[in-house]
Amino acid sequence: MSAAAGAMLPDPNAFRGHVLSPVDPAYYVHRTIWNGSFDRHPALIIRCAGVADVIAAVKFGRASGLPVAVRSGGHSFPGFSIADDALLIDLSPMKGVQVDPDRRTARVQAGVLLGELDRETQAFGLAVPSGIVTHTGVAGLTLGGGIGWIMRKHGLSIDHLIAVDLVTAAGEFVRASAEENSELFWGIRGGGGNFGIVTEFEFSCVPLGTQVLAGPIFWPMKQAAEVLRFYRDWVADAPDELMTIIIHRKAPPLAFVPAELQGKPVVMVVCCWIGDLETGEQFIRPLRDFGSPVADLCLPKPYLAHQSMFDPSFPHGRWYYFKSCDVAELSDEIIDITVEHSSKIESPLTSFPIWQQGGAVSRVSDDDSAFSGRSAGFTYNIGGCTQTEAGFEAEREWVRSFWSALEPWHQGVYVNFLGDEGADRVRQAYGSAKYQRLQILKQAWDPENFFRLNQNIPPA
Ligand SMILES: Cc1cc2nc3c(=O)[nH]c(=O)nc-3n(C[C@H](O)[C@H](O)[C@H](O)COP(=O)(O)OP(=O)(O)OC[C@H]3O[C@@H](n4cnc5c(N)ncnc54)[C@H](O)[C@@H]3O)c2cc1C
Repeated sequence: MSAAAGAMLPDPNAFRGHVLSPVDPAYYVHRTIWNGSFDRHPALIIRCAGVADVIAAVKFGRASGLPVAVRSGGHSFPGFSIADDALLIDLSPMKGVQVDPDRRTARVQAGVLLGELDRETQAFGLAVPSGIVTHTGVAGLTLGGGIGWIMRKHGLSIDHLIAVDLVTAAGEFVRASAEENSELFWGIRGGGGNFGIVTEFEFSCVPLGTQVLAGPIFWPMKQAAEVLRFYRDWVADAPDELMTIIIHRKAPPLAFVPAELQGKPVVMVVCCWIGDLETGEQFIRPLRDFGSPVADLCLPKPYLAHQSMFDPSFPHGRWYYFKSCDVAELSDEIIDITVEHSSKIESPLTSFPIWQQGGAVSRVSDDDSAFSGRSAGFTYNIGGCTQTEAGFEAEREWVRSFWSALEPWHQGVYVNFLGDEGADRVRQAYGSAKYQRLQILKQAWDPENFFRLNQNIPPA
C-alpha cells in the first residue's frame, strides 16, 4: 500500500459496503478487471453498497489526496477503471434494476451488467438498447453512448436515457435530466465519467418482444473480398430492423461452430433482425444464397440468446488490445485493406468486429448529446487477443498496422472504443466544438479534474 493510503485509512464503519486493502484476501479478487493485460494494485478498494457509500468514498478520496479510479463493469479497453496506488471506487455491488412495465421505464444502478438488465426487461418483452456482450457494464457503456444490436431501429443507449443520479467531485448528490441540470445531462450522454459518478440511470424501454432472427453466416476467409463486396451492396438497402456485424477470425472451438470449421480462417456476417421474422427471412435470403456459406446459423431465437452469443469470445482475463476508427463506407480500397490484414491474423483468439451504423442513430441531431459519430457508416474495432503475455506484442503490432493502413479514411472514433491514446484522440472523438463545450462543463462540475482516470476532458 502507498504511504498516502497507509497514513489515512477510512473508517470501515462509515460504509455499508466493504473497504479492502492489500491485507484482505478479497482485495485480490476485486482488483482485477476484464482486460488481463492490466495487472494493477490500487491502494484501497471501496466497494459501495449505495449512494451514501459513494458520497463517503468521494469525500475520502478528496481528503486522502489519492488519485481516484471508478469502476462499474470493469470493461474499459485501456484499463482506466483500475490504477496503481489509487483509490478504487467500485460500484459493482450496486445491482438494483426496477422495471415499470406500465410506464416502460427501467431504473438501473451503476453496477448492473448488460445481461442483468436484459433479463429484467425481457420478462416484459421490453429492452433498453445496449451492447453485444452481456458482462459489459451498463454504466461505462451508457456514458460513452452505447451501440448494439437494436440501435439501427431504436437508437443508442443514451437516446433512451431519461435521467441520472450523480455524485459530483464535491461529494454532492444531483439529478440530471432534460429539465434539471440540462447541460450536465447533455455532457454525460457521451462525455463518460468526467463529470461525476453516476449511481443510477433511468431509461425508457422499447417494446421488442422476445424473439429475433439472428446469428452468423460463415464463408472461408479466402472468399472475404467477394463476400464483403456483396455484403456492402446488399446492406445498403437494409431497413432499420436489420443490424449486422462482420467478423474476421479463425473459427472458434465452440459448440455452435461445426467441428470441421473450427480453427479455420473465416469471415462471418452476423445478423440481428428485430420485427416480423418472415419479412426478415425474405430480406436475409440473398445473403444466405451468396456463394457457398460453410455454415449458416442465422435462425429464429430468443433475444437473450443472441445477446450472449459473443460472451465466450471475449472472456475476462485474456490480454486484449484494440484500436478503432469510423469510416464512411466500405469502399473497394477499404475492403482490400481489410482482406489483406485479416488474412494475417495469427492468434486463434483474435476476433474483430466491423459494425454497421446508421438507421435511428443517424436521425437524432448531433447537437442532442456529447456523443459524436452519428454519421458514421461503419465502425472498425480492430482488436488483438492472446491468452497471456505470450504473443501479445505481435498482435498489438498487427492491430496498429491494420489501423494505420485505414488512416486515410478515418472519420472519427467512438470514445468507448478508444485506447489510452492521448488528449488529441479524445478531442478527435468529440470534434473541437463539442470538446470545448465539454471543457466548460468540466470546469463547472470538476474544476480540479478530480475524475481524471478516464478519457479525460481537462477543465477549460
Ligand atoms: C467485451 C466488451 C464488449 C463491448 N461491447 C460494446 C458494445 O457492444 N457497445 C458499446 O457501445 N461498447 C462496447 N464496449 C465498450 C464499453 O462500452 C466500454 O468499455 C465501457 O466503458 C465499459 O463500461 P464498464 O462499466 O464495463 O467499464 P468500467 O471499466 O467500469 O468503466 C469504464 C469507464 O467509465 C467510467 N465509469 C464507470 N462507471 C462509472 C459511473 N458509474 N459513473 C461515472 N463514470 C463511470 C470509468 O471510470 C472508466 O473510465 C465493449 C467493451 C468490452 C470489453
